[in-house]
Amino acid sequence: MDFDFLKDCVSKVGVELTRENCESLSRYYEMVVEKNKAFNLTAITEEKDFAIKHIADSLAGISEIPQNAVLLDIGAGAGFPSMPIAIVRRDVSVTALDSTAKKMNFISECARELKIDNIKTIAGRAEEQRNLFSQFDVVTARAVSSLNILLELAMPLLKIGGRFVAYKTDESELDGAKSALETLGAKHVSTKSLSLPNGDSRAIMVFEKIAPTPKQYPRLYGAIKKKPL
Ligand code: SAH
Repeated sequence: MDFDFLKDCVSKVGVELTRENCESLSRYYEMVVEKNKAFNLTAITEEKDFAIKHIADSLAGISEIPQNAVLLDIGAGAGFPSMPIAIVRRDVSVTALDSTAKKMNFISECARELKIDNIKTIAGRAEEQRNLFSQFDVVTARAVSSLNILLELAMPLLKIGGRFVAYKTDESELDGAKSALETLGAKHVSTKSLSLPNGDSRAIMVFEKIAPTPKQYPRLYGAIKKKPL
């Protein structure tokens, strides 16, 4: 991967990469491309596209992550945004969660190869991780589900005062999430709107857990899907 291009892309979302960061991100890119031949991880494999749409995008949210935070990424897939976050923010303790075990095995493989020891993985569904409820300072999710559904998955996992960082294209889902916010004891804190270096617009939306999640949430996925809050 071209380090100058990568650095430039990422600096446009406000993050300065070290040479070591570039080496790790570049190796990670190679591993995704290699794995993608055997197992579909992403449609974005061209180098510049990957730098913009996967790496810069994933890193656009890091200003919302407090120092030494304990973070969980719901539906991490091949590791977005969790893997770039773990590489660049070595102070953050990252857990990548996805219902597809093969994807989590891939992230573990990358972490071993890159010697990034601040990321671990769990294969399973977010709404079924009762032992993880109230454990996290930050929960992230990108391209997983609609905002109202994500709030039901994310809020139980957060400590009170913890923050859910949703990677979205714009704020259009906010109105439809009003009742979910109220029911779950969450509030919208801020939205960072930005353009990726290719002009794509992004909205990094931050929600704070202000009250304990009522006991009946999260419901089973079937019920969440059928009757979203
Ligand atoms: N965040 C990644 C992957 C998005 S694809 C990216 O931005 O590229 C959505 C992923 O979410 C899939 O890998 C799917 O397995 C996972 N997923 C969907 N619902 C989930 C749930 N309830 N719990 C855990 N993983 C889930």
